[in-house]
Amino acid sequence: MTGNRDVVVFYDQRMLAHQPDVNDAFLPGRLDKRVRGMLSGLYGEWKYPEHPGRLTAILDLLEKQPLAGLRFATGNVATREQLARVHTTAYLDSIYELRGKSAWLDVDTTAVSAGSVEAAEVAAGTAIAAVEAVVGGDADSAFALVRPPGHHAEPVRARGFCLYNNVAVAATHAQAALDCERVMILDWDAHHGNGTQDIFWADPDVLFVDIHRAAPFYPGSGRLEDVGVGLGEGTTVNIPMPAGSGDTAYLKAMREIVVPAADWFKPDLILVSAGFDPHWQDLALNVSYEGFGAMTGIMQDLAARHCDGRLVFVLEGGYSLDSLAHGAHAVLAVLAGDSPPEPGEAGVAEVALAAEFHRQAFVAADDDS
Ligand SMILES: [Zn+2]
Repeated sequence: MTGNRDVVVFYDQRMLAHQPDVNDAFLPGRLDKRVRGMLSGLYGEWKYPEHPGRLTAILDLLEKQPLAGLRFATGNVATREQLARVHTTAYLDSIYELRGKSAWLDVDTTAVSAGSVEAAEVAAGTAIAAVEAVVGGDADSAFALVRPPGHHAEPVRARGFCLYNNVAVAATHAQAALDCERVMILDWDAHHGNGTQDIFWADPDVLFVDIHRAAPFYPGSGRLEDVGVGLGEGTTVNIPMPAGSGDTAYLKAMREIVVPAADWFKPDLILVSAGFDPHWQDLALNVSYEGFGAMTGIMQDLAARHCDGRLVFVLEGGYSLDSLAHGAHAVLAVLAGDSPPEPGEAGVAEVALAAEFHRQAFVAADDDS
């Protein structure tokens, strides 16, 4: 039942200061012109969808529907040394120069505002704090509620709302500073974690498994055949899903691919890049809250089997505030000790009840057998 397990939610309000506003004046330059051109060609007004309300929506729901066993803690600022484990120094220099400024970093929806660089450092540092708590034995599991998200950020490039690759920074910190040799990362965000894949592409000590909506859906990478290279061949596992895939397909992927991959790899720590955009309210896939809860239960079993239960969630995407908040809540309920739900095909149980309700209505009057 809820409350059986000690779960720490990591959150730091400095991450709210990342708030790019497309109507602000941005640093002048070629990229700014190009983005302006693209935005002006759009039908209707475009707002930056990765906004501070995403985190507060999750916190508000946890306040309204509290879960026993949950504790809250604040994060830290990631140091340059910690970030440099996954990003080049040239890239870090270019981001550090933007402190206090507004600028577009990439045409695919990555901009910064005055507080963004610190917010991104805190996001990565908060993912590190979550890993330290779990590996250090201060918590059974942890969830780092962070933004900007991370999994699209490549060693040399900000992409798709992401500046620093938070989950990769956390994984490499566990290896470099916390004696974890082998780290597994499951990325269940709707979008492929191209940045995380790039960073660990040739690394045999990080198992990266990604369930995502298949190309040409953004960012277009993550083919089945992409399995890593060199020593890392076999430790990248991509599971592309067609549009509309739901709980049944996701749980099949978990049981038939993710579980055997983890049993083969035997991780010392498991991280989950948890986006909630596979939920049907984000219109790309069809996962339910019960589906997120069931997947959490499977990851919990894997962590118990291989690494003393060490399991850390790091928030990625999810843009419908309602499904983002309820999805995170469903994960936290299972982490805190609820039995994982067993989702059926959506609607089947309701149809069975409706069939029972209507059954007598269609029996002919003279047919009383
Ligand atoms: Zn996403």
